[in-house]
Amino acid sequence: MGVAFSSPDSPYTRLCAVYTCRCGAALSEVGRHAGDLPPGWERLEDGRCLCAHCAERRRDAIAAAAS
Ligand SMILES: [Zn+2]
Repeated sequence: MGVAFSSPDSPYTRLCAVYTCRCGAALSEVGRHAGDLPPGWERLEDGRCLCAHCAERRRDAIAAAAS
């Protein structure tokens, strides 16, 4: 037994979160990462999510507006 998997009865194996962006991108996180945003994604104040691509564009727009 070199690798250990959690038992099917573990609540974590059923944890699954799906994140969708307004551009149509969707990404699901399963297990211990469910509840955390995927790398690069951002959560907006209203609870919506931005994918890594849109988050980068948003940061650029904010930076451009500030300059
Ligand atoms: Zn997006």
